[in-house]
Amino acid sequence: MSASDPVANLQDLIRCPSVTPAEGGALTALESMLIPLGFKVERMVATEPGMPDIENLYARLGTDGPHLMFAGHTDVVPPGDEASWSHPPFAAEIVGDELFGRGAVDMKGGIACFVAAMARHIEKHGAPKGSISFLITGDEEGPAVNGTEKLLKWAAENGERWDACLVGEPTNPDQLGDMIKIGRRGSISGKVTVFGVQGHAAYPHLADNPVRGLLPLASALMDPPFDTGTPEFPASNLEVTSVDVGNSATNVIPAKAGFAFNIRFNDTWTADTVKAEIVRRLDLAAAESPLRPGRDPARYEIVWAERPSHVFLTRNNALIASLSSAVEKVTGRTPQLSTTGGTSDARFIKDYCPVVEFGLVGQTMHMVDERVALADLEMLTQIYGTFISRWFDNALL
Ligand SMILES: [Zn+2]
Repeated sequence: MSASDPVANLQDLIRCPSVTPAEGGALTALESMLIPLGFKVERMVATEPGMPDIENLYARLGTDGPHLMFAGHTDVVPPGDEASWSHPPFAAEIVGDELFGRGAVDMKGGIACFVAAMARHIEKHGAPKGSISFLITGDEEGPAVNGTEKLLKWAAENGERWDACLVGEPTNPDQLGDMIKIGRRGSISGKVTVFGVQGHAAYPHLADNPVRGLLPLASALMDPPFDTGTPEFPASNLEVTSVDVGNSATNVIPAKAGFAFNIRFNDTWTADTVKAEIVRRLDLAAAESPLRPGRDPARYEIVWAERPSHVFLTRNNALIASLSSAVEKVTGRTPQLSTTGGTSDARFIKDYCPVVEFGLVGQTMHMVDERVALADLEMLTQIYGTFISRWFDNALL
């Protein structure tokens, strides 16, 4: 068994129904592809009180540096209503020139291609001079508490060190070769509650309406813009995502009113400085907006959501150039280097080594009839293979 065919690899993986938090056989299937290639495979179970245990996998080939890591996840989002799929979500049916199934692009396809690229590399050149490892979690689509973050920590405590990492998440909006991600924006969420005094709507002088304070506070967070963007990042942006009073009576002034927000911020900020700016704006708006003329400033409280996502930008030129030139060689297209989109597990990996992301076309991810073109699987395998050769050539210079 050689694992050099990405289509067969992907079919094996899709047929394991590994909806978070279930392992579903997916890591076992991956393990049985990697062991014949010479990888030493370890299965690490992460636990957290009140949460399901999660199986993760770490596999390494070689003992010396330089050390390249491939990272990703075998868990998938639920298929939703299976009856609305044209082909069953865990059957991995090939129809025409496409392969259907949950995880086809996000991101069992990326794993299948990287395994195939490794197998071909070993067949042709033998194992790379250095080490290559797979860091694969079963908890990316879920809470991501028992996933990549803990797996990295566990591996580092066992002495693992990496020089670079490629994450195989789908990064291309339309066509293979569109986009490499070289960073991600940070993300922070919070809830603001404005306090007033409850009372009769007909006797407002006896009450203090918190809704009058909520409006200027929410506006102060949305305008003016936090910044105008940087060469590598779009402008930071805050959206108020919910406004909640919870008052069913029309003749009662409520005691409190709240709103929730999320900000996506660029490297003009850190999580701490962006939080400080949010508080500064709220304090200013509260001071300027008493709930009624002549009254005290609005009283408010802010509660931050746990665990902000930190912003990062990879500046390792050898890593970016190896990947970018591999994409160009195989697709004939120059990929855009981007920091757009949501967060990914790269936010944890960046604390250990430079990280870039490149995978399949994301158009059908998380949708009914998720599917991938067979030609894309072959091309991505060639891109990963070229990248592996070029990265090691570079690192060994
Ligand atoms: Zn994913």
